[in-house]
Amino acid sequence: MERLLPPTLLALKEALEQLPGIGPRSALRILQHLLKKPDLLTRLTDTLGTVATHIHPCPKCGFWTEAELCEICADPHRTEPILCVVKDVSDVLALERSQAFRGQYHLLGGVLDPLAGVGEKDLRLSELWNRIRTEGFEEVILALGTSPEAETTAYYIARHLADWPGKVTRFASGIPVGSELEYIDPLTLSRSLRERLPFSL
Ligand SMILES: [Zn+2]
Repeated sequence: MERLLPPTLLALKEALEQLPGIGPRSALRILQHLLKKPDLLTRLTDTLGTVATHIHPCPKCGFWTEAELCEICADPHRTEPILCVVKDVSDVLALERSQAFRGQYHLLGGVLDPLAGVGEKDLRLSELWNRIRTEGFEEVILALGTSPEAETTAYYIARHLADWPGKVTRFASGIPVGSELEYIDPLTLSRSLRERLPFSL
């Protein structure tokens, strides 16, 4: 019966269904809600347009920015020569909530996952090697989470850095196996960050 919807609404509904966690029913509920709230619809139209034209990945770390560099890379007070390698934006936000880290981040954009078709070229790895070579870091923390794919990716990076003179470390215990950084409470995160361990190959 969905073909009864005007084509524009049907197109919006189908677009909404592409979002994570949104099925056909929730898409329809969102449509109904938006049409009852013209103000919200206008706000969304405006912000979505601006996001599409202004937001891009920071060329250095990969975080979101609308300026040349993201706020973290542009912050002159973040002087610790430590690079924390994470998967995504949500990991940066989780670590920033813990307030325990004053170095730089590098977002890989995921972890190696051959079954899901994610290989070395799909991640920001060449950017990572380049930064480690040129930016004078003394330590690289591999904070990719504890899933088997994350472990494999961390191992891959650590092996690649075997001859690099700096330290390669990982978080101390406290992060349950298989969990994502964003679900760890800030206190636990800051403790495991403070008590980090050398990454052993
Ligand atoms: Zn950045």
